[in-house]
Amino acid sequence: MSRSALPIRIPLADALLASLLAWSGCAAAQAVNGAAPMTVSQVASGVYVHIGALEDWTPAHGGDVANLGFVVGSRCVAVIDTGGTPAVGLALRAAVQRTTPLPVCYVINTHAHPDHILGNIAFVDAAEPPPRFVASANYSGALAAREPYYLNALRRDFDIALTHAAIVYPSLGVDAVLDLDLGDRVLTLQSWPTAHTDNDLTVYDRRTRTLFASDLLFAQHLPVLDGSLRGWLTVMAALKRLDVAIVVPGHGAIASDWPAAMDAQADYLSGLLSDTRAALRDGLTIQQAIERVGIAPAAHWLLTDRFHRRNVTVAYAELEWEDDDSKLSPQTRPGPSRARSRANPSRADGG
Ligand SMILES: [Zn+2]
Repeated sequence: MSRSALPIRIPLADALLASLLAWSGCAAAQAVNGAAPMTVSQVASGVYVHIGALEDWTPAHGGDVANLGFVVGSRCVAVIDTGGTPAVGLALRAAVQRTTPLPVCYVINTHAHPDHILGNIAFVDAAEPPPRFVASANYSGALAAREPYYLNALRRDFDIALTHAAIVYPSLGVDAVLDLDLGDRVLTLQSWPTAHTDNDLTVYDRRTRTLFASDLLFAQHLPVLDGSLRGWLTVMAALKRLDVAIVVPGHGAIASDWPAAMDAQADYLSGLLSDTRAALRDGLTIQQAIERVGIAPAAHWLLTDRFHRRNVTVAYAELEWEDDDSKLSPQTRPGPSRARSRANPSRADGG
C-alpha cells in the first residue's frame, strides 16, 4: 500500500458554488425532480451501478454516457465516477441520497476522461466533512492538460459555462494500491501502468468481489485507446488474475463471467496490434493504415465509426518505433541514412 497526498486544488468560493448549484438546479430539476431520476441498480449487496448510454460524450444524452457507481459501508459511501456534466453528478448525488442516509466520504475518479468526472462539482458539499476526492497519482497532470479542452467542449457543445474552479481535482492520489474503509467494508483501489490512459484506476469491493474496471474494460462500446496498446494488453493479463464475481465496465453491461468478459476486447485490441504491426512491416503510411487496419473486428462494436480510426492512429504512433526500424516505410523514415540501415525489412513474428 502506498499513499501520496496531493494538495487540494479546489476549494470553491461559497458564492461560486452557490451560483453553480443554482445553475445546475435548473438542469438538475429535470433529472432530479422530474419524471426520470437517475436509474441505479443494486448489482451486489450495497453496490449500486448506473449504466450510461452507449453513446459518445455529447449533449444528445446530456453527457450521461459512462457507467457510474457507489458502494455503501456501515459508516459512509464511496462514489465511483460522477458523469459527464454537473447535472449528471447532481442526479447521481440524488440517487445516493434516495438509497442511504449515510454521508459520501470518498469520490473516486477512475481516470481523467470528461464523461467520468465532470459531475464531481456536485459532490463538493455532499457531506460534512466534505468527501475526499481520490484518483491515480497521474490523474491531476492528465486533467490539467485536458482541462481547457473540456471547458471549451462544455461551452461549445453543451452550452454549459464553467471555469477552472468548477473542475475538481483529487486531494488523494494513488500511486500503487490504496485501501479505503467505508465501515465494515474495504475498497481496494489500484492504479495501473499506462493502458486505456496513463491514469487508470480500478476499484475492487472485497466483500462482494465486485470490480469497477472502468475504461480498462469496454463492453459493446468500441474500446477507445488513449494510452498504450501494448500496455493495455499487459494490464488485461494482470486483471485476469483477480478474483472477480461481478465486473462493471466503464461502458456497457455488467458481467459475471470473469475473465471471459474481457475476451471481446482482447480480440479487438490484439487484432489492432497485429494488424498495425503488419501495416508497418508492409511500409504503409499512417493514412493507409487508417484505411486498412482492423475493419472486420471493429464492425462487431458500437461507435466504431467514431473511434476505430482514431485507435489505429494511436496504435500506429505507438508501434512505429518499437523494437527496431525494420518496419519503417520510406514515407516515415527520418532520413536517408536510416532508410538504408536494413537489408531485409520483413519480420516473421510481427514483433
Ligand atoms: Zn475513458
